Amino acid sequence: MRAVTFQAPGKVRVEERPEPSVQDPEDAVVRVETTGICGSDLHIFHGRVKIEPGFTLGHEFVGTVVETGAAVTEVAVGDRVLGCFCTACGRCFFCRHGDFHKCDHGRVFGHGKTLGNLQGAQAELVLVPHANLTLRRVPEGMPDEVALFAGDVMGTGYHAIVDAGLVAGETVCVVGLGPVGLCAVQAAQACGAAHVFAVDRVRDRLALAERLGARPIDLEREDPREPVRAATDGRGADVVVEAVGHPDALELAIRLARKAGRISGIGVYAERVQVHMGLVWIKALSLRTGFANVVGHLDRVIALLQSGKLDPRPLVTHRLSLDEAAEGYAIYDRREALKVVLKP
Ligand SMILES: [Zn+2]
Ligand SMILES: [Zn+2]
Repeated sequence: MRAVTFQAPGKVRVEERPEPSVQDPEDAVVRVETTGICGSDLHIFHGRVKIEPGFTLGHEFVGTVVETGAAVTEVAVGDRVLGCFCTACGRCFFCRHGDFHKCDHGRVFGHGKTLGNLQGAQAELVLVPHANLTLRRVPEGMPDEVALFAGDVMGTGYHAIVDAGLVAGETVCVVGLGPVGLCAVQAAQACGAAHVFAVDRVRDRLALAERLGARPIDLEREDPREPVRAATDGRGADVVVEAVGHPDALELAIRLARKAGRISGIGVYAERVQVHMGLVWIKALSLRTGFANVVGHLDRVIALLQSGKLDPRPLVTHRLSLDEAAEGYAIYDRREALKVVLKP
């Protein structure tokens, strides 16, 4: 089968790979019909997140089940399914407490040996461990390009909002308008935010955030603190989503949050960074971090996608074949794309 593999920083290649088959009773194999390139794939592409050369990339997928192990009960051969970006066992301490994203046996697709040695989904076939939790049937009538978002990007935007404990009527500020930030803008509105501010430098992304109902703030032209304070009687935002994964964005988030506010640090960090702890402390901020509990949120996110209250379709900017993956990575790297969808 063909698969998109990491070669070296800045270089991916479509290569022939052996077809996967069920090895464990809880495994399934899915024929991938739609997959995506994600911001976290770019971290690998840039060499910031390190994986082995030749490893298959990708962790977003929609497809059809072609093989199941004996213990797979929730999906069957022939089912059209969507996948979560990570797996969970359903039995460990963390799974029992609903923290599926921190499963002791959790593995992330397409992230190399350090995150579970699980080959990625930018391929014709993907092996799915713990298929009962990792896969979900796609509701009748939901397009592939919508379902693709449930197990990663929209699940993450939703997580950023609910993990920060948003209550209807609060003000949210989203820093960084990549796909996750734009999904957080939508999720904030779906969860009842009174005001949503959207901060970035890329004009197309600001324009899209505005179309989605947010008040755009162009960092090149405006100090975001002024409009956020103006909307909140000088307090600052109740919830700030940091969807970049950069110390400057985190610093801005700390400054935009009100006293006793909450910051959702959903952007990826892989290294030591400095935080102005004095400000965090004096403002009594809560800081939530880590990748999203998409398995835990999946039913609610699918329901919101089905109802149309969350609609990721405006985010799909490019549709390419799997063989054009290298071009897809280059386009995304130049920030010319939001979501690049690949068709194997
Ligand atoms: Zn992702
Ligand atoms: Zn577990």
